[in-house]
Amino acid sequence: MTTDVIIVGGGVAGLSTAYQLSKHGVSVTLVERQQLGAGSTGQAAGLLGQVRKTANATRMLVDGLPIVRELEAETGLEIFVETGSVRLATAEARVEDTRNHVRLGAGSELEVSLLGSEETARLLPYMKSDDVILASHTPSDGHILPHELTMSFAQMARRNGVTILQNRPVRDVIIDGNCAKGVRTDEGPLYADRVLLACGPWSYVMAERAGQVLQTVGMEHVYLTSQPDDAYPVHRMSPAVRDYDGRIYSRPEAGGLIVGIYEEDPVIRDMRELNDDFNMSQMRAARDSSAVAYLLESALLRFPFLENVKYTVTQGIMTFTPNGSALSGTIPGIDGLFHTAGFCGHGIVQSPTMGVIMSQLILGEPCAYDLNAVAADRYVGAAGYQDRRDIEPKCVTAYAGHYGPVRR
Ligand SMILES: Cc1cc2nc3c(=O)[nH]c(=O)nc-3n(C[C@H](O)[C@H](O)[C@H](O)COP(=O)(O)OP(=O)(O)OC[C@H]3O[C@@H](n4cnc5c(N)ncnc54)[C@H](O)[C@@H]3O)c2cc1C
Repeated sequence: MTTDVIIVGGGVAGLSTAYQLSKHGVSVTLVERQQLGAGSTGQAAGLLGQVRKTANATRMLVDGLPIVRELEAETGLEIFVETGSVRLATAEARVEDTRNHVRLGAGSELEVSLLGSEETARLLPYMKSDDVILASHTPSDGHILPHELTMSFAQMARRNGVTILQNRPVRDVIIDGNCAKGVRTDEGPLYADRVLLACGPWSYVMAERAGQVLQTVGMEHVYLTSQPDDAYPVHRMSPAVRDYDGRIYSRPEAGGLIVGIYEEDPVIRDMRELNDDFNMSQMRAARDSSAVAYLLESALLRFPFLENVKYTVTQGIMTFTPNGSALSGTIPGIDGLFHTAGFCGHGIVQSPTMGVIMSQLILGEPCAYDLNAVAADRYVGAAGYQDRRDIEPKCVTAYAGHYGPVRR
């Protein structure tokens, strides 16, 4: 079987790129080792906070929303829930960051305002707010529903002619000289001159098989989802919360609350050890694990009502890079081989625009974004970034610093 482009991986990154390529009349085959969404995508919370540290990164997120709205119009599904979001400053050291967040938002023409403790309490009556010194409020933030986004990308890609093969692990990339020529599966080879590896936390494994080093690490991540309880109502349009000092985030979910944590000492997963049957939705965090204990301790401080309601725990594997930005593009050495991975907890919300970017790179078209920050080749030849024993601690530091007390 021969197509123009083969995409390995049926998470949001691969599916978004397939959808964008399909609009250009390119023949695309997407190959997934399990079912669509069987990786990180199926486990995600989907929080969208648009204001980032650079205008370019903010624009990538803002520009994704019209694509989501386009999918909603085509499929009739609700994908984006515009609840707004609130960032808390509960320590003096966080106050200047919060003010800066408002300035960054204004610089990108996003409405972001400052709230005091009482206004914050009015917006979030179920949250402990008496220690909030200041908060920023972005009404146009919210969350993207990962399952609905995944299925919408897949539906639209299929409608445009993309072939999606599931339960088909790719064993390696076929390379002829220094050119990608396709992939090998147990059912036989698939041929294409352009191959995109969009394998989420497995990406470094596939890169290794092609003789390349990709600086990504898979790390366990947990969140809880409380069950709805009439005594403790959580409105479906309640704003998401980011409490950096408590290392937690939250958003409403079906009358309950999702609360997740970026702990200081995440557990690294060796993706080479997982067999073909592994589906991330089967992961179960032990209730007595240190991550769950830490999550509960921090969640109860901010949302004391959780003590009185039932909850479930979701666990998944996130992909981090040494500096907290994705690795997307090409690595010198193999023509026609592309990578997109390492979204550091933002892959759902980055995927709509990243699909556009990857399709432009694959088609050799000019790209409207500054890609230096996400270039897949940015660590090529750099000392300390070629061996997994060096890469892993750097990615742990990036994860631990994602949320946490302000360090000056
Ligand atoms: C618990 C949790 C909470 C999260 N919360 C958020 C959030 O609030 N907001 C946000 O934006 N992001 C969040 N994320 C991150 C987000 O889920 C990821 O960034 C995103 O899903 C990455 O998509 P992906 O397509 O790159 O990877 P994946 O979804 O992992 O997809 C990769 C796919 O490749 C397949 N694959 C791997 N190897 C092969 C092979 N050899 N052959 C064929 N197929 C292969 C896998 O089966 C998988 O389906 C969260 C993640 C977790 C785990």
